[in-house]
Amino acid sequence: MLIVKKFGGSSVANKERVYNVAERILEDYKKGHKVVVVLSAQGDTTDELIAKAKEINPNPSRREMDMLLTTGEQQSVSLMAMALENLGYPAISLNAFQVKMETTSVYSNARLKRIDSERINSELERRNIVLVTGFQGVNRYDDITTLGRGGSDTTAVAIAAALNADKCEIYTDVEGVYTADPRVVKDAKKIDEITYDEMLELASLGAKVLHNRSVEVAKKYGVELVVRSSLTSAEGTIVREECKVEKMLVSGVAGDKNVARIAVVGIKDEPGKAFELFSLLAKNNINVDIILQSIGRDGTKDISFTVPRDVLEDAKKVIEDNLGRLCAQKVEYDDQVAKVSVVGAGMASNPGVASLMFESLYDSGINIKMISTSEIKISVLLDEKDTERAMNAIHEGFKDRF
Ligand code: ASP
Ligand code: MG
Repeated sequence: MLIVKKFGGSSVANKERVYNVAERILEDYKKGHKVVVVLSAQGDTTDELIAKAKEINPNPSRREMDMLLTTGEQQSVSLMAMALENLGYPAISLNAFQVKMETTSVYSNARLKRIDSERINSELERRNIVLVTGFQGVNRYDDITTLGRGGSDTTAVAIAAALNADKCEIYTDVEGVYTADPRVVKDAKKIDEITYDEMLELASLGAKVLHNRSVEVAKKYGVELVVRSSLTSAEGTIVREECKVEKMLVSGVAGDKNVARIAVVGIKDEPGKAFELFSLLAKNNINVDIILQSIGRDGTKDISFTVPRDVLEDAKKVIEDNLGRLCAQKVEYDDQVAKVSVVGAGMASNPGVASLMFESLYDSGINIKMISTSEIKISVLLDEKDTERAMNAIHEGFKDRF
């Protein structure tokens, strides 16, 4: 069997953890399996490198940031190879150049395009344990790139797809995917199985357990994932196309604070205004999420929408620079909001999910600012300070439906 195992930063944070992971790798290797291991940077290394960069230059170029941040993963794979060597087993570490992991050219947020399986396969044939740096790639200028924070998951899934692996295991410091962040909701429960679509929603709605692009890649290539703990032998959560267990109504509650709301007030009520506004934002690479347009009154209307809070300043600039063209009376910004969502493949065929969610919020006296729905999720925008309370209230409201 060919197994890809990915270990997150906390799982390899120090010497003891490194040896713990080495043992987990060897369990499979000793059974005769081929093992490819993808590693993240140890502990808080990536955050520390970012802080270090900002000390030198508060506004470093993305190219140089990628050059710096990728050193974290390179430390992890070489240290793990040394640990395995020390235990008497053959291991080899490889970086993105050696594996030829081609990405798009965008620094700090590149996408994997192609992975050459040749080098990895030949090392596996020699019975080496292959340790690959997560998070990094190489673009067409032969520069090193990164896949965005948390991107090592995506490296692992892409390698599993490229090698046609039999298993792809994502090891972390929790026992799997939970119905809500257990640090926020005490009663959160581990989920045994979840579909790609649900996981994709949860990952992009703020559940931080998997990089959302890793789920996209898994879905595209049909890679079945297991998310499990590197510290216990608990079974973890399986992420796949269809779940065998009887469909639960909802699978999870997620909260996201990387949200800001923009309201463009008093736009002329005529065709083309929404197009003008959103094409302007799209051209500047600003992702828009929830959109709400008011009923026109006195020849004008309001459009409000949300953007990730970390691009609010960029969005502000684009809008302020084009106020004349948009013919808007004023623009309001609010960066004290958050988005709380429930996700579940079962909700498509079950009325009443929205009302149960709103009832839970009402019972806790929490005000809703905006609402958006899709087939398998309902999101509400609320005051940031209400986030944790809202997650708990909604989780409690749905407790018999998970
Ligand atoms: N080390 C990178 C980060 O902290 C990538 C990863 O952990 O997946 O974001
Ligand atoms: Mg991660």
